[in-house]
Amino acid sequence: MKKILVTGGCGFIGSNFIHVARQFLPDIAIINLDKLTYAGNPSNLRGLEQGSGYRFVAGDICDIDLVSRIFTEEKIDTVVHFAAESHVDRSIEGPAEFIQTNIVGTFNLLEAARKTWLAQPADENRDKRFLHVSTDEVYGSLGATGFFTETTPYDPRSPYSASKASSDHLVSAYFHTYGLPTLITNCSNNYGPYQFPEKLIPLIINNALNGKPLPVYGDGKNVRDWLFVADHCHAILQVLARGRIGETYNIGGNNERQNIEVVHTICDILDEKVGLLASGKPRRELISFVKDRAGHDRRYAIDASKIGNDPGWQPAVTFEEGIRRTIDWYLDNPDWSAAILDGSYREYYQKMYGVK
Ligand code: NAD
Repeated sequence: MKKILVTGGCGFIGSNFIHVARQFLPDIAIINLDKLTYAGNPSNLRGLEQGSGYRFVAGDICDIDLVSRIFTEEKIDTVVHFAAESHVDRSIEGPAEFIQTNIVGTFNLLEAARKTWLAQPADENRDKRFLHVSTDEVYGSLGATGFFTETTPYDPRSPYSASKASSDHLVSAYFHTYGLPTLITNCSNNYGPYQFPEKLIPLIINNALNGKPLPVYGDGKNVRDWLFVADHCHAILQVLARGRIGETYNIGGNNERQNIEVVHTICDILDEKVGLLASGKPRRELISFVKDRAGHDRRYAIDASKIGNDPGWQPAVTFEEGIRRTIDWYLDNPDWSAAILDGSYREYYQKMYGVK
């Protein structure tokens, strides 16, 4: 790898990936193409100087002229494609953006890669990689037992997961039809620093710190597998280095938890770290069960043995450790959250969750 195009690098996972890639592969150049939607935050990359092997391009992956220009003007050998509309609740409220960015945007990137990379002699393409970052939500919902594997049939249930499933199929088709050197990763729920506070863990941390209600969908017993974001970034690097072209790899954290367990854990750690609420009560008192999300998948769980065997990767961070590291990061970076938690965000989540 010499020059990576990272899409969506100002978002949660993309920015963590850029930090990890800079640390472990200091000689590569990174171009970060990000539209800066509500979820894109350039301050996730503070400290990175333009020009020092890093270039930020503010732009839309749906802009085919821009995407094509980047491919023709830069000698990109690797794409790591994170850019997406990523929040399920927003996809239920307004799916149109999800179709544009997640499907049309992915198509544009594939087309640009096909037209530039595959126009070159085959031996110049040996080291090229197009890695598409996707979700375990494409597989649908599990009962109390079983795990998603790479051969589990797709069964997406939300506009978000349907748009990601569609983009996965396009990526796979470009491998089979044109021989584009693609890789797909489907991961479970990430958590860690720089996560936008509409997602469960940062939402609960911020509300619990500020003595606000902690909205929990339904009975709180939906199960998710939690993957510490740095572990995910290392898995992506490993797939880029050693994954087999055309393959899909599931990435999970081996950390299945009910949502309510996650909320309890955060409340208890905050009580321990910053003391009880001003009322003298523990933070669990703030929990407020709210009407369940439409089509809420009951359980996701990943069988990550394929990536574990070859190319060889295991999560290094347990949930107990990762959640403490995450809480510490939010405690150490109150300005980051404060800048996001402005009026427009609050309006949105009041509407979504019906809490003040
Ligand atoms: P995020 O919402 O935090 O960040 C998305 C980034 O993409 C933002 O910086 C945004 O500005 C950018 N973006 C959106 N539309 C764009 C467009 N049209 N052109 C250019 N940039 C655009 O998302 P995330 O949580 O970091 O997720 C990254 C990827 O990982 C997504 O593809 C998502 O589907 C996938 N994923 C995320 C999780 C998770 O738990 N967060 C789990 C599984 C898969």
